[in-house]
Amino acid sequence: MKELERAIEERGSVLADGVLKVDQFLNHQIDTSLMINIGKEFVKRFQDCKITRVLTIESSGIAPSFMAANELDVPLVFARKKQSLTMTDDVYTSSVYSFTKQETNKITVSKNFISPGDHVLIIDDFLATGHAAIGLTEIVKQAGATVAGVGIVIEKSFQGGREKLEEKGFRVESLARIQSLKNSKVTFLEETLI
Ligand code: 5GP
Repeated sequence: MKELERAIEERGSVLADGVLKVDQFLNHQIDTSLMINIGKEFVKRFQDCKITRVLTIESSGIAPSFMAANELDVPLVFARKKQSLTMTDDVYTSSVYSFTKQETNKITVSKNFISPGDHVLIIDDFLATGHAAIGLTEIVKQAGATVAGVGIVIEKSFQGGREKLEEKGFRVESLARIQSLKNSKVTFLEETLI
């Protein structure tokens, strides 16, 4: 997605350890018109999948997922990283190791919000090693629902997450695919430049 790649190039920065900082438009301050277009692009790519629910993980997955769910006219559910005191229902849980925070979080979703008949579109801001996305697919599996696909805003293609998801049979659509962050330079995979 050209507009997203331009935002990454112009407003993103590469941190020394292979992490892309995009807090100007996605992870802290949010560019709402870019998010609207990201939502529309996800809908275009998954429009034939009969999606009944969008699932993401707090907090940075919420903005792009919100726009997609709104366009699809389906509910958006976000997995919580910390169980809240008000979360008294039965929950689905999964353990997710965070690449950027270097800690493991137990993620939870109330059983009220995913049902066996659901076709769930999973969306996240980044795909790196795949732990977050796989944790979300496990929640969908526990609910007896179907993963319609995995939509990613920014894929770091050199960290193996896509391969892990595809090996498990999941369809992955990433709006920007980064081949390398070497020498603090963002290089996109050829196909996304078309
Ligand atoms: P994974 O679980 O695929 O290794 O990493 C995905 C999660 O880690 C995303 O939910 C995202 O929050 C975070 N993440 C991974 N790589 C980056 C990065 O380069 N920049 C930012 N801002 N977040 C990242």
